[in-house]
Formats: sequence, C-alpha cells, structure tokens
Amino acid sequence: MFEKIYSPVEQIKLAPFNNLYVKRDDLIDPFISGNKWRKLKYILQSAEKEAKNHLVTFGGAYSNHLLATAAVAAKASLTSTAFVRGERVENEMLLLCTLFGMNLIFIDREAYKDKKSLFKKHFGDDKNAYFIDEGGASLQATLGCAEIIDELLEPYTHIFCAAGTGTTAAGLLKGILNHKLKTKLNIIPVLKGGDFIKNEISKYVSNTENLVLHTDYHFGGYAKTTPELISFIKKFTSSTGLLIDPVYTAKMFYAVIDLQKNNYFTHNDKILTIHSGGLMGIFGMKDKFTISSTIK
Ligand SMILES: *Cc1c(COP(=O)(O)O)cnc(C)c1O
Repeated sequence: MFEKIYSPVEQIKLAPFNNLYVKRDDLIDPFISGNKWRKLKYILQSAEKEAKNHLVTFGGAYSNHLLATAAVAAKASLTSTAFVRGERVENEMLLLCTLFGMNLIFIDREAYKDKKSLFKKHFGDDKNAYFIDEGGASLQATLGCAEIIDELLEPYTHIFCAAGTGTTAAGLLKGILNHKLKTKLNIIPVLKGGDFIKNEISKYVSNTENLVLHTDYHFGGYAKTTPELISFIKKFTSSTGLLIDPVYTAKMFYAVIDLQKNNYFTHNDKILTIHSGGLMGIFGMKDKFTISSTIK
C-alpha cells in the first residue's frame, strides 16, 4: 500500500522569488498526510513483519499523527488505538479518527508522560499490539523521510522543513548525506527553544554539517500563533493556491520569506520547501480566523 506515491515538485510563483519550489507531500493522501506517511511507512512494515495487527499510539487531540495512524490502519486492515493526551474532548480530528475505526483512550497529562507503561498496562497481554511512539518518532521514520531526497530530480542549494520532534529533519539530513549533496538543510522548529532539535537529529545522524536551525520562528511556541502569522496564512494561501497550517508549514514558509528579505539567499540559490501536510490542523485553530465577507 506504500508503493504508489504522488508528491510532485512544483514551482511557487511568489514575488520576488523565481527559484522557489515545493515538494507536495501534502498531496500524498488527505489523511495519511505528508511526513506522517513517510514516517509510518517502515513502522508499518516492521509491524507486519512481526505479525502485529493492532497499532497503538499516542498524541494530542489535534495530532496529525493520530489521524494518519487511524487512516493507515484502516487501509491495511489493522486495528488502531490511540492514547489521547488530556481530558475527553470531541473535535473534527478525533471524529475522523473514529470514522477510520480508531479506539480512543483519553488519559490525563501526568499518566500520558509514561507511554511505555501505559502501553504495558493496557496492552501488555495483547500479543497483536504494536507500540508506535508519539508522532511516530523512530529510526524507521527517519528511513521513510530520507526517501524524500531520493525522489528529487534536481539539486537544490537549500531545503526547508518544519520540525516538531526533528525526526523528519533527521531523515532529510540522512538523505542529503546518502546522496553526497551540498544542500543546506534549513529546519524551522515550531517550538520555543528549538535548539534541542539538534540533539534529536544527532541521535540518528552524526554529521550535522549541512544542518542550519532557524529557532526564531516559533511564534510563541508549539501550536501558538500571532495575528501576524494568521494574516500571513491568508495572504500566502490566497496568492499561491497552497493551503498551509498554523502549527507547522506556515511557520516554515514565513521563515523562508523573512530570510529572503534579510538577504539570506543569493541569486544562484534554488530553494525547495517541503510541504509536510497536516492541513486538518487548521481546524484546531478555527477560532483564530474570521470568515471575511463583503457587502455590496
Ligand atoms: C508532525 C508534523 C511535522 C513535524 O515532524 P517531526 O518529524 O516531528 O519534526 C511537520 N509538519 C507537519 C505538517 C506535521 O504534521
């Protein structure tokens, strides 16, 4: 089921850029979206190799990873369970997870921290249960993400990607090294204090020469936004036709444009952005947007 993949590279027509491209991982699947598809590919293979047919994972109530796991499980005729952080809520994301057949267990924030023991307590006796860490963070996930680089037909001087755990970034860096490219990997941590991403990446890749972290584009922290970021999303989406989300891709695209204004790039640069998907995350922020109308 992971054989066919649709993720074209497109040019983004946005002044003053004439060298800005996007890898449309958001088009791979609406629900097994973007980097979550990449991350789950080899995790699923491992589960199948071990003949496990019950995926058990972890995430917040608006986690793109939960939805991706639910959808992948349904497609592969597996069952899925998610431990959802915090008190019981209902939202669009969890509705979709439920439609894909995912069993949800709400768990208070304290107990949620110890994922291994939650798994053991609830599914220790279930021989079919397969543990998948929050966000799919794992070595297998980096292997799937490295394949983004295998698919590129041309060299780029810069690649940009948003980071939460840094697993996707580690995979991209692996891919760049595998192909002996000189490409700079520009990573935008979406959390405050994003320097920790470097340590995360070092767990999987020892050579971080090509890595550049831009830690000032978190807009207050994980899932935090500002009016400036919200108005950026509207402007960017309406002028490019590319939908972006406030948690990840908007912060990355904002960074690219801000760095351009600060003369970060040269005329010879060729910039590839990774659209890592996750568009359902917009629904977690719907109160930040106002529907505009014009009275004539
Ligand atoms: C989860 C996610 C990321 C972050 O990926 P990490 O591997 O955790 O760094 C980036 N973009 C989108 C859209 C995501 O859903």
